[in-house]
Amino acid sequence: PMEGRAEEEKGHAVCVPFPAQGHITPMLNVAKLLHARGFHVTFVNSEYNHARLVRTRGAAALAGSRGFCFATIPDGMPAASDDDITQDIPSLCKSTTETCLGPFRHLLAELNGAASTGDQPPVTCVVSDLIMGFSMDAAKELGLPYVQLWTASAVSYVAYRHYRLLIDRGIAPLRDVKQLTDGYLDTPVEDLPGLRNMRLRDFPSFIRSPDPDEFMVGYAIKETERAAGASAVIVNSFGDLEGEAVEAMEALLVKVKVYTLGPLSLLASPEPESSSSISCLSLWKEQGECLQWLHGKEAASVVYVNFGSIVVMTSEQLVEFAWGLANSGRQFMWIIRPDLVRGDAAVLPQEFLAETAGRGLMATWCPQQEVLNHPAVGVFLTHSGWNSALESVCGGVPVISWPFFADQQTNCRYQCNEWGVGMEIGTNVQRDAVTGLIVELMDDGEAGKKMRKRVQEWREKAIMAAKPHGPSHRNFDELVRNVLLPKN
Ligand code: UDP
Repeated sequence: PMEGRAEEEKGHAVCVPFPAQGHITPMLNVAKLLHARGFHVTFVNSEYNHARLVRTRGAAALAGSRGFCFATIPDGMPAASDDDITQDIPSLCKSTTETCLGPFRHLLAELNGAASTGDQPPVTCVVSDLIMGFSMDAAKELGLPYVQLWTASAVSYVAYRHYRLLIDRGIAPLRDVKQLTDGYLDTPVEDLPGLRNMRLRDFPSFIRSPDPDEFMVGYAIKETERAAGASAVIVNSFGDLEGEAVEAMEALLVKVKVYTLGPLSLLASPEPESSSSISCLSLWKEQGECLQWLHGKEAASVVYVNFGSIVVMTSEQLVEFAWGLANSGRQFMWIIRPDLVRGDAAVLPQEFLAETAGRGLMATWCPQQEVLNHPAVGVFLTHSGWNSALESVCGGVPVISWPFFADQQTNCRYQCNEWGVGMEIGTNVQRDAVTGLIVELMDDGEAGKKMRKRVQEWREKAIMAAKPHGPSHRNFDELVRNVLLPKN
């Protein structure tokens, strides 16, 4: 039954996110938008994540409703010993590429089989994460429109595509591990269309591997090039922010149109009334007291610290961050995932806890978008994952960036150098640097003032992009009309 939805049944979209938090969330937003347009949606989780989601959101939330269904395929990983641990990303990239096509093909056949009994329409299009490119074969076998979602920045797509050039120019792979520390990474890399002021260290991290057979390098090249076979590519960004990189993407993709639908979090909210009740697919349970704690605090008085769903650090690094925060004298909210620290559980020094009692809140997971939209948050200490980068723009909060891996280095470079919304902490984090940057950004230092102003300007542009009749809206309409709607 479809009552409550504004438009007639239009088709059946199968949405296939890469099975990690930063990919699931933007894909869910695309799925919600399609559902609100009248598409029947099947959202495909990995079995592992689906089980986690049932635990964190409850079985009822994952039962699906009114034309929004969930399905699962195995991710091909060996069973994990701990059920709530972040999976290793390179292993997951390898296992999905090698093992998911068969189960996915089977799922499409099953969905079409169920359609013959009249319960749901047959599959009419596939929207897949760009790094789940195996799904292209299955969609093409059925002659379906096949759209890919790139969940990271447009600049990072361009940077990954240029791995090949770095290799051709002899800049990569590294010849020696010493090059990681002898200044070699500062080599400027010029004349790359779509990229500005890049150094080798600003490229997605995998290219720094001294292993000439590094799996992630070949994988990144293969997956980003494979997108040239898609019917269209969606990017979670907007023209004002990344117009130049989006043009470069289109040039690289030759015949494939790139649709900017960002920020997807704004485009898909407020939830259209007719949309599903599936509001959030967090793999961890949020701790509600985070928002409570912020209420009543002075505007821009709190340092918010969160390194996302994947970052792992050493306990030494954890301790440097802790003292950096303590010595700033500021109030802070620090989200520490149970598996944030490599090896052991995160242990914070007793003296730190005693010294910051009353002005620091520690929790394991929070509703980040709401936190960043809260007026009490003054600065965001982040790893610069792309969702976090966009969410900080939407919240108008400048960042202190400690990039960890993958595209985070590239995002950090652009946040700090091109967009003027942040400052970087070196890889080898020191407490004094943490304190210094917090003071710089929170007190009325010149740099801080400038960045707060810049981030507000970007925030307004983000809102303009995603408002009704704005470019992201129009692009979504066009995508639905020209690419996704069944032609009959
Ligand atoms: N997130 C959240 N609560 C947390 C930590 C993260 O809701 O405590 C969300 C965050 O809002 C973002 C996503 O998880 O949408 C993380 O994606 P991102 O691209 O920033 O980083 P990743 O986790 O992929 O490294």
